Amino acid sequence: MTKVFLHTCCAPCLLKCQESLEAEGITPVLFWYNPNIHPWTEYKFRRECLIRYADEESLEVRLKDEYGLRGFISDIYPNFKSGRCKYCYKMRLEETAKRAVEEGYKYFSTTLLISPYQNHGLIKTIGEEIAKKSCIEFLYRDFRLYFREGQHLARSKGFYMQKYCGCIFSEEERYLKN
Ligand code: SF4
Repeated sequence: MTKVFLHTCCAPCLLKCQESLEAEGITPVLFWYNPNIHPWTEYKFRRECLIRYADEESLEVRLKDEYGLRGFISDIYPNFKSGRCKYCYKMRLEETAKRAVEEGYKYFSTTLLISPYQNHGLIKTIGEEIAKKSCIEFLYRDFRLYFREGQHLARSKGFYMQKYCGCIFSEEERYLKN
């Protein structure tokens, strides 16, 4: 059976990625590593929702439980806008690839590939660059066409639904727009 070590940003994004991978005969092993999610209560709600779902579905899940507000801000300073997302994708995918190699997986990927709000091309490029350096394959899939259906399904399951991407800056951008 093929397994993929799947960086998982949240349970709502996971649903359709999981379904699509399983339809191909690929089993995802979930990896929670999201120090970009702030503030603490938001981090906790998203993490708990994922753990509960993984438990119900008997999915394997690994946690690198690191709430990273201070580190994230100091790492991107002073570029709070430009370059922020590139750093954020790279940080999470590098850690995912590292852990996947340590645990002997051949493939890694990310649920970030489902969101039409993310920079999809950049995620793909970063994933492939990391793969080359780490001797592991980046399993690229364009899951975006399942996004709406996945969100609808997540709501129907009563999942915690986030209102912004994750970092404290994305929260500000989301609510200042209103
Ligand atoms: S907007 Fe989203 S992807 Fe970009 S830095 Fe913030 S959490 Fe990361």
